[in-house]
Amino acid sequence: MRLVFHESFHDSSYSIDDYDNAAAEGRLVGMMQALREEGRYEVAVPAMASRAELLRGHTESYVASIELKPRLFAMATLAVGAAILAADLAVRGEPTFACVRPPGHHASRSSAWGHCTFSNVALALLHLRDSGRIRSAFVVDFDQHTGNGTQDVLRGWPEAQIFNPYGDSSAHYLWSLEERLQTAPQVDILAVSAGFDAYIHDLGHKLRTQDYFTIGRLLQAYAIRLGHQRRFAVLEGGYYLPDLGRNALAFCRGFE
Ligand SMILES: [Zn+2]
Repeated sequence: MRLVFHESFHDSSYSIDDYDNAAAEGRLVGMMQALREEGRYEVAVPAMASRAELLRGHTESYVASIELKPRLFAMATLAVGAAILAADLAVRGEPTFACVRPPGHHASRSSAWGHCTFSNVALALLHLRDSGRIRSAFVVDFDQHTGNGTQDVLRGWPEAQIFNPYGDSSAHYLWSLEERLQTAPQVDILAVSAGFDAYIHDLGHKLRTQDYFTIGRLLQAYAIRLGHQRRFAVLEGGYYLPDLGRNALAFCRGFE
């Protein structure tokens, strides 16, 4: 399994929002430290996505409005590039986890909220589809919040299905995922929006570190059942910084 990361993602000055938890200073430090200390995950370094790659999922006027904020545009375009690199490696058979910001699953075609700018996961899937390498995809978004942006950008592509696990407790949440994966479609790739804000000390107040291993392992088992094992994950939310590293590592150990 490979990580996708660029040192620029540590720079939290890209955000134009005073209350942007995703852009919190040092948010990715503990995560990258935990993943690097594991010693088994090589890091692939992404490049910025092209304007044409953004326009696969966003309107011209929306992209132009972000271009007016050069720091945000540069960072968000690099996040898309990271998701695309993660997808490119995954489609060749190597599982990946892209550690990026800003997150993307609340970015719709012509607007965004929730600290998101561009629809990272959806744009990566459209990149694979439009280059003829996949026809279908299954997206699992285990962030505390529903990925409305991913849904919006992928609407009109019936072979791309999306599932958000749900439940008030850890047991119910894991059950909902396990249940759905049992009847999940035969697709060309599994894409994961990996948000860690359903954590017991974070906004969702339910999942424990071990649950992130279980989520990763359930998704890995599904990818194995698909036969080709193609899978990639991209970071979304996750704001309880003391445990973000161990939660991401638990997920990767299950998902790899
Ligand atoms: Zn969230």
